[in-house]
Amino acid sequence: MIVVVKPNVSDERQNQLIDWLKGMGLGVHISIGEFSTVLGLIGDTTKVDTDLIASLDIVDSVKRVSETFKQCNRKFHPEDSIITIPTAHIKAAENKDGIKIGGGNFAMMAGPCSVESEDQIVNIAKAVKASGANLLRGGAFKPRTSPYDFQGLKAEGIELLKIAREETGLPIVTEIMNLRDLPLFDDVDVLQVGARNMQNFDLLKELGKTNKPILLKRGLANTLKELLMSAEYIMSEGNENVILCERGIRTYSDYTRNTLDLSAVPMLHELSHLPVIVDPSHATGIARLVSPMACAAAACGTDGLIIEVHNDPIHALCDGAQSLRPEDFDVVCKKVQKIREALA
Ligand code: PEP
Ligand code: MN
Repeated sequence: MIVVVKPNVSDERQNQLIDWLKGMGLGVHISIGEFSTVLGLIGDTTKVDTDLIASLDIVDSVKRVSETFKQCNRKFHPEDSIITIPTAHIKAAENKDGIKIGGGNFAMMAGPCSVESEDQIVNIAKAVKASGANLLRGGAFKPRTSPYDFQGLKAEGIELLKIAREETGLPIVTEIMNLRDLPLFDDVDVLQVGARNMQNFDLLKELGKTNKPILLKRGLANTLKELLMSAEYIMSEGNENVILCERGIRTYSDYTRNTLDLSAVPMLHELSHLPVIVDPSHATGIARLVSPMACAAAACGTDGLIIEVHNDPIHALCDGAQSLRPEDFDVVCKKVQKIREALA
């Protein structure tokens, strides 16, 4: 249920209302907008008398929210959420105020599928930064379909990402597959929950107890509602720093690895206030399709992109076929920039 408070109501009267609602055993999510304050009521609202609340002189309107997702719902928070990835702890960071995503702030995450060596990750990090990336991606723990394939450098991979972060100032994004690894991610800037773990509810709940930005990727066969319910698992534990990611879903299309569901971007923006980014690399599985899909994502309002870049794709230990060479990534960045400017 949401309660819209009239403009210019004093803090004192607003707090009285909030205390009264909390007294009914409800959680109250407060969203202060430019023109009005929206109170999102969480919990069992079946016994709440909407007419009584609506009759209060400081209340503008009361609406029941029928969707099962509440905290990520745009009705609870009408303005876009802007998520800040802190950078104050990164010595080499150019901007110590953090990297912002959402509400017009664009994130370009780029890097290899997997961290393979110090040289590899540092060189790629420098190249993608020079092209305009503001976050460095790289897998340390890799979810592979075959147990015989490269599984990632694990803890060592995270250490190498930190070296690349210090060399370039770029915050790092890497995937957590298992709760028991959480202590290793203390110093990671954005924790990625991969497609295969989108409904690992124990993992989501535990990440909800941290204050880390979480990049939540859509599962291979999950609906948008399920994606939003997974975001809700994180947010209901107190962590509101969730970035949604469309990375392609399984369909019967046969020439691409997945099908990029681009309509997810405007639809998620309609349903939720959370930033939405697009992964054209895993969506297509084919390097030459990354540029057109990245451009299309920019055209439909994505808040960012996550793109796989490798200095030697043919010898990459994972996902070489979809990885761009740094010079091709540079061209993509320029095209995306032009599209964003044209739409601004
Ligand atoms: C990845 O980003 O390298 C990855 C494994 O992505 P996804 O979970 O979307 O397959
Ligand atoms: Mn990959």
